[in-house]
Amino acid sequence: MVLTEKYKLVKQLARKFAENEIPQELQDEIEATGELPIEFRNKIAKSGLLGMKVPKKLDGQGADTLAYILAIEEIARVSMVASIYISGANSLGSGPLLLAGTDEQLEKYLAPIARGEKYPAFGLTEPGAGSDAGGLQTTAVQDGDYWILNGRKCFITAAPYSDYCMIFAKTDRSKGSRGITTFIVDMNLPGVSLGKPEHKMGIIGVPTSDVILEDVRVHDSDRLGEINKGFSNAMKTLDYGRLGVSAQSLGVGQAALDEAIKYSKERKQFGQRIADFQALRFMIADMATELYAARELVYNAAVLKDANDPTASMQCSMAKYFSSEMCNHLAYKAVQIHGGYGYIKDYKVERLYRDARVNSIFEGTSQIQQIVIANNLLK
Ligand SMILES: Cc1cc2nc3c(=O)[nH]c(=O)nc-3n(C[C@H](O)[C@H](O)[C@H](O)COP(=O)(O)OP(=O)(O)OC[C@H]3O[C@@H](n4cnc5c(N)ncnc54)[C@H](O)[C@@H]3O)c2cc1C
Repeated sequence: MVLTEKYKLVKQLARKFAENEIPQELQDEIEATGELPIEFRNKIAKSGLLGMKVPKKLDGQGADTLAYILAIEEIARVSMVASIYISGANSLGSGPLLLAGTDEQLEKYLAPIARGEKYPAFGLTEPGAGSDAGGLQTTAVQDGDYWILNGRKCFITAAPYSDYCMIFAKTDRSKGSRGITTFIVDMNLPGVSLGKPEHKMGIIGVPTSDVILEDVRVHDSDRLGEINKGFSNAMKTLDYGRLGVSAQSLGVGQAALDEAIKYSKERKQFGQRIADFQALRFMIADMATELYAARELVYNAAVLKDANDPTASMQCSMAKYFSSEMCNHLAYKAVQIHGGYGYIKDYKVERLYRDARVNSIFEGTSQIQQIVIANNLLK
C-alpha cells in the first residue's frame, strides 16, 4: 500500500520515539528485572501513545486504525515489550469501553487511559476457557444495585500495572456465550487479588498473572453494555486486538530481516561474506517477500475495519494468522543466519525469536484464526 504523507509521518514519529526512548540498555534492564521501569511507563503515558485510538474529545489522539497499526509496528521493531504495553491500553483495554461505554463511563474510565493516568487490562481467558472463551465460568449475580463476581481469569497482560480490568462473566449460565456480561472492575476493590507472576519464554517485562475475584461487589453503573451482550463485545474488541498483534508481528519480522541482512554482510566464512552464499540470499529473499505480503494484508485489513467492510472480521483473522506465522518464520531464519551467535543473548535475534512465539498464540491461536476464516467462507 502506498502510504500518504500523513501516515508516513506517523511512522516516522513512532520510529523516532522508539529509537530515542527505548535504547538497548533499557531493553536489557527490562529483560533482567522482568519489569517496565515506572519512569519508562510514565514516559509512554505522557507521549499520548496509550490513547491513540481514543477520540480527541476524550483526550485521545483520535487516530484511525491504519495510523495506530503503523505506530505499533515501528515500536515493535525496536521493542515488542513496549508495543504490547501500548497496544494493551489501546485495543484490549479500551476496546470494550469504546464499543459499549456510556458517556459517563467514557469520561470516568476512557479519558484517564488516554491521558496516561490509568491503565486497563482485559480479563476474558480462564484456566478452563482459552480458545473456547464462551465456556468461561466466572459468575456475576445481581444483588440490588450491585453484582457479585466470583471466578479466576488467567494470563492477564499487565494485570499488576492495571487500575481496572474489563471482566467477562456469566450472568445467565443457561445461555452459554449468549449469557455473558462485561464489567469494569476496579483492581482495588475488596476481593480482587493477583496470582503469581508467570515466568514467560519471551515478552519479559510485560507482567502476566491471574486475576482472582472473590465476592467482588461491582456497582451496576460499572456494568459495560447490555446484560448478556458481553461476548460479542469481547469478539469485536479482539478484531482490533488481532490487528495490534499483526502490527507487532510486522515489527518483529522487520527487525529479524534487518538483523539478518546486517549480520550476513559482516560475517565471513570460507573467505567470503556469508551474504554471498546463494543459500542465504534465497533465505533473505523469502523473508523479505513474506514480510511484504504480510504488511499488505495487515494494512488492508486495518482500512477495511474502519470502513466497516462486511469481510473485515475475517480479514483481521487472516492478517493475524499470516503475519504471526510470518514473524515466527523470520525470527527462526534470522537465528539460523547468525549460526551459533544467534543462540547467544548478546545478539538481538535471540530475543526476537522468543518474543515472536506468543504472536501466534494470544488473542486467538492460529488454529482459531483458521476456524474464523473457514467459518466465514463456508457458512
Ligand atoms: C503472554 C500471554 C498474554 C495473554 N494475555 C491475555 C489477556 O490480557 N487477557 C486474556 O483474556 N487472555 C490473555 N491471554 C490468553 C490467550 O488469549 C490464550 O492463551 C489463547 O487464547 C489460547 O488459549 P489456551 O492457552 O487456553 O489454549 P487452548 O485453548 O487450550 O489451546 C490449546 C491448543 O489447542 C488448539 N485448539 C483449541 N481449540 C481448537 C479447535 N476448536 N480446533 C483446533 N484447534 C484447537 C489451540 O489452537 C492450541 O494449539 C494471554 C496469553 C499469553 C500466553
